[in-house]
Amino acid sequence: MSNNTSLLELNPQQFIQFLKQINLNRFSLVYNKENDVVDVSDTRLEELADFINQDKRDFMQHEGMLFQVSEEYDTLFGAFIHKTNRGQASGGLRYWPYESMEDFLRDGMRLSKGMTRKNALASLWWGGGKGLMAYNPEHNKADKTIREKLYKDYGRFITSINGCYITAEDVGTCEEDMGNIFTQTRFTTCIPASVGGSGNPSSATALGVVHGMEAALKYLDMGTLEGKTVAVQGMGHVAEPMIGYMFERKVGKIIAADINQSLIDSVKAKYKGENLEARLVDIKDSSILFEECDILAPCATGAILNSETIPQIKAKIICGASNNQLKDSMIDGQAIADRSITYVPDFLVNRMGIVNCADEQSGYIDNDPYFYRHLEQDFEFSVFQTALRVLEESKRTGLTPAVVAIKQADELAKENNPIYGHRGEKIIQSLVNNNWQQNG
Ligand code: NAD
Repeated sequence: MSNNTSLLELNPQQFIQFLKQINLNRFSLVYNKENDVVDVSDTRLEELADFINQDKRDFMQHEGMLFQVSEEYDTLFGAFIHKTNRGQASGGLRYWPYESMEDFLRDGMRLSKGMTRKNALASLWWGGGKGLMAYNPEHNKADKTIREKLYKDYGRFITSINGCYITAEDVGTCEEDMGNIFTQTRFTTCIPASVGGSGNPSSATALGVVHGMEAALKYLDMGTLEGKTVAVQGMGHVAEPMIGYMFERKVGKIIAADINQSLIDSVKAKYKGENLEARLVDIKDSSILFEECDILAPCATGAILNSETIPQIKAKIICGASNNQLKDSMIDGQAIADRSITYVPDFLVNRMGIVNCADEQSGYIDNDPYFYRHLEQDFEFSVFQTALRVLEESKRTGLTPAVVAIKQADELAKENNPIYGHRGEKIIQSLVNNNWQQNG
């Protein structure tokens, strides 16, 4: 690598080659409260700390970001710990291709911050974090042997960071992968039911999103889902059961799109006889967002609500499962409000997966009240109540729903765990004190 090449511009595989050249396998970026800066564990990576310290968009005093190169297959692992006041940082593990280190870092910071807010707004005693595994295109993602090794390796990485981050399932990761992680660490949720876990949380997530839609319809005096038209981007783990919950509620028509034909075929087969129109799209094709409909449900990837897409959206309500739908929560949230579209913040409605996982440690009972209260209308922190509260406050204050939800969540996220206090921060500090980066 030449001296002029920016580390941020390298893709994760090139970055790994750089780390190998300088004989580094692990590094950390940890927030130093006293000086209000991020410290990097190795000065040769100072550029990354400088970038984060200057960033105003995604960095929000993240307590710690820890990185490791996989034992095999040149894959970069990340654990992004945003805030741990309410408890251990919790959030899923994303296995995804990244074009540059900047993209990788930004995604981790954005997603972990989102998890802090999601967990706090759901009144869970958990902090927020996110795991990333940068997909290396030189290896076949579908190869079970490679996946087993990678996810077990990720599990060992999680064990090494002493429980400041509790991992879970997210895009690109499946239940079998979670089982592999669990063989190496106890710091995980969303493990298979066969080993005491709550299994795939997607169906629970889907139900929460539907409750968010119902709250928005009530807020707008539009009645129920019955007879409505809903456009759905993505037909994966969340969208598939969500479509079913909507048909149960007698939705009029669903128009859906995915980039995977076999998935489309299986969802169509499942809902044969229902009014489901599904089409195959190219990954860059956003046309589903511009359908004539009552509700638009983004259930694929993030940042799809932006200056290019928002002017073309015809839906009255946007409510879906994808994390970080707004490319910029301020600018794009405002652009949606200016078009009189009611946006129900993603992290408010897509919480049920993590709620499902949060109760895993506490054992199981039928019709678990700690789970179902989130789907009841009278629980103060239920999806329905929280969504209505946010939308009403948005109307009262003139702030966008996204800003209101963020404000409410950030206030809740400052509360310390009633039993353990702000312990996650201390765990990270002990990793730093014990030179974690040198021990792997
Ligand atoms: P998934 O990977 O199973 O489904 C996403 C689907 O979107 C895939 O089928 C993919 O082919 C499709 N897709 C990707 N790009 C597309 C495009 N441009 N146009 C149309 N389709 C496209 O993931 P999931 O578990 O269903 O999650 C969906 C979203 O919800 C993600 O953003 C995820 O982070 C978020 N989320 C999921 C959960 C959960 O419990 N699974 C919880 C909270 C949030």
